[in-house]
Amino acid sequence: MDPLLASLHQHYGWDDFRPGQRPVIEALLSGRDALAVLPTGGGKSLCYQLPALVRDGLVLVISPLVALMEDQVRQLRSRAVPAACLHAGLTPEVRQEVWRSLAEGKLRLLYLAPERLQSSQVRELIASTFRQKRLVALAVDEAHCISAWGHDFRPDYRRLGEVRTLCPGVPMVALSATAAPRVRADILRLLALEKPLVQVCSAQRDNLHYAMQRRPKDPLDQVLKAIRRSRGASLIYARTRRSVEHWAKRLDANGVEAIPYHAGLDPDLRHQALCHFLEADRPVLVATVAFGMGVDRGDVGLVLHLDLPSTPEGYLQESGRAGRDGEPAQCLVLFSPGDRTSLGWAMQASLRRHHNPELEQEERSRVELAQQQLRRMEAVAEGEMCRQQALLLAVGELAPPCGRCDRCLSHLQRDDWSEAAQMLLQTLEGNHGTDARSLSDTLAELEPLRWGWLTRRLVQEELISESNDGSQRLYLRDSGRRFLKQPWPLHYAA
Ligand code: ADP
Ligand code: ZN
Repeated sequence: MDPLLASLHQHYGWDDFRPGQRPVIEALLSGRDALAVLPTGGGKSLCYQLPALVRDGLVLVISPLVALMEDQVRQLRSRAVPAACLHAGLTPEVRQEVWRSLAEGKLRLLYLAPERLQSSQVRELIASTFRQKRLVALAVDEAHCISAWGHDFRPDYRRLGEVRTLCPGVPMVALSATAAPRVRADILRLLALEKPLVQVCSAQRDNLHYAMQRRPKDPLDQVLKAIRRSRGASLIYARTRRSVEHWAKRLDANGVEAIPYHAGLDPDLRHQALCHFLEADRPVLVATVAFGMGVDRGDVGLVLHLDLPSTPEGYLQESGRAGRDGEPAQCLVLFSPGDRTSLGWAMQASLRRHHNPELEQEERSRVELAQQQLRRMEAVAEGEMCRQQALLLAVGELAPPCGRCDRCLSHLQRDDWSEAAQMLLQTLEGNHGTDARSLSDTLAELEPLRWGWLTRRLVQEELISESNDGSQRLYLRDSGRRFLKQPWPLHYAA
């Protein structure tokens, strides 16, 4: 029998590799760097775990989230694989125990938060494991965090390249679920991967049913209906801690046992919530989006967002937590055009509050990037394209329409909006730099139409540009001027 399959079977009891896993494992075993972009649930962790087991050595895994590390360690230990993590939250006893098993050469997987790599003790550990030829590979999980273009930039990741000087020749694998081509390029460059294997698997998931709807004033009915229809576990995502608590209480009051989960709860409660989610028959968890990364429950039948998600990449990951068992699952977004505006204001306010002249430029570009990403997400939600296709396009993958989402299953009635567009552009010409709200108000006095919506469409159409500072100031583009001189048809479904 093929020795890799034999190890897979021996340690995990599985009979075959998932797409993309084997080439990455083989690359690492032959000492070659690799970039692995596999969809959520695609089995990224096996790619760096199996080499450690095959070689009886140590793989260091850099991971951004403590919860993620602990979850992985728990799963490995349940398979009798010696694994541990090092992060700031450990008690001195636990920490000592970790160092002891490291010294004895027993550990196969060690998870580290990126900032740990600055500690001299950890650097010495890397150097000595390397000298003893026991360091099999370095793995960088959630590698998109290294890119300012990614949806979750972590400055600590920028220093990861340095580790390699401590262990020349040890292969490094960077892993991510969704990384737009630009982010992939950043990962390759910033980690200085050498002649890497680049393994990219499609993020298409043929069991997810996407739907995105305008959120009514009170979406309770929709939420209840979606939960009742769903199978297995349900994940309800809310943006703020307050709204997590609010919705958990509301669902409870309406006969659905719902557990809140967010970073502000005390660790015991969080642990209970996690256990409930993993063990109950049909648990409903209301959480902030940080929950769910690495949480291994296959039969999540519903992932519902109560607000517009903040980026298409992030949403692909979050919705990807549904249906990891391959059975049909629903991914529902309830959004309102106000979501982007209110987030924009919040970001601006925080920019003013934390005003730090040294970081000003960096902060400003972060807000701008966040605005652009929100707008891309909004364009998916308000757009007419197949949801999955639009999401994948937003991360640089060209895929056919899914045939299952709300857009694929409905027929949209399109009308020509070019006359209204002319009116809007003309008004804007006379009010350059006005904000979206004032423009809509001015226009509404002339004619009652969905001006806010049309404005967003014309921004997508690139006839108007919109400022990225959160204040939504609007400007006519050259293409808009051309349109005014000689309009062309604009067919939109309202
Ligand atoms: P990712 O990190 O890519 O989202 P995980 O590594 O958590 O995915 O794996 C997702 C699920 O798939 C886990 O339940 C894991 O145990 C399972 N899995 C991974 N590889 C295989 C395989 N080759 N055969 C069967 N199950 C697998
Ligand atoms: Zn579709």
